[in-house]
Amino acid sequence: MGDSSCIAAPSTNRLEGKVAIVTGGASGIGESTTHLFWKNGAKVVIADIQDELGQAISDKLGENVCYIHCDVSNEEEVINLVDTTVANFGHLDIMFNNAGIVDRPFGSILDSTKSDLERVLRVNVVGSFLGAKHAARVMVPQRRGCILFTASACASIAGMGTHSYALSKHEVVGLSKNLAAELGQYGVRVNCISPSGLVTGLSLSAGQGATPEQIEAGLHELGNLKGKILRVEDVAKAVLYLASDDAGYVSGHNLVLDGGFSIVNPTIL
Ligand code: NAD
Repeated sequence: MGDSSCIAAPSTNRLEGKVAIVTGGASGIGESTTHLFWKNGAKVVIADIQDELGQAISDKLGENVCYIHCDVSNEEEVINLVDTTVANFGHLDIMFNNAGIVDRPFGSILDSTKSDLERVLRVNVVGSFLGAKHAARVMVPQRRGCILFTASACASIAGMGTHSYALSKHEVVGLSKNLAAELGQYGVRVNCISPSGLVTGLSLSAGQGATPEQIEAGLHELGNLKGKILRVEDVAKAVLYLASDDAGYVSGHNLVLDGGFSIVNPTIL
């Protein structure tokens, strides 16, 4: 039988009463997600190492948003981030482990170094692990919560990033699934998103001096959905869905945002 609540208009306050941490919240996907979470009624803590940018966003959005300096690869700083959030806002409902880096412009493994690999793993993998661990420390006793990660389409398709970066993002997907299996018994949902390429500080740093316009042109060329490329706002909307009660039975999922590219090109190597 039909349920009339199924056709109700979507709420614009989908995170009312929720407290969220967004790592890497000072730019790109994290900044856009911070705005959207805030617009949907959440209290948001931006965690980043770009203090001026993070503080400026917090100042602009007002009392429901604050900035905390946190290098996600430093456990003391992650503990401080989570504990300060709970002390200020009373609880923690959403942990978006989004901070990430690339090592260098795309290239052969012959040009890759162990120190590049370790640097990428420290932020993308150790950072995700620490964020999830200390969020779980709060969410398990609460018996509710939502942990999210930003992986990448390069965890689904070969040839989309450096070997270090691809390795790190496969690990993020693995961590997300493993955690979903463990934390479901406590009512904690765990999911990740895997965007394909988009224009942000990260892609510019990997782009061998390419301008944003050149990167955009490349994305149009490669993309599967003609006339469209992925924007940070599209990613933020997917994150909002996963963070909200609309995704109340979604856990252990890797939401790939690539316009269908990976099904058309299962490998491009
Ligand atoms: P971005 O560079 O705009 O944002 C990344 C943010 O992470 C920055 O604000 C940066 O200061 C912060 N950060 C870096 N190291 C940190 C650390 N040690 N501690 C805390 N914060 C740190 O780039 P983005 O594209 O928005 O990246 C966000 C996430 O999206 C990353 O995990 C990235 O791997 C992923 N991603 C990006 C693309 C893309 O094409 N841009 C595609 C797929 C996935």
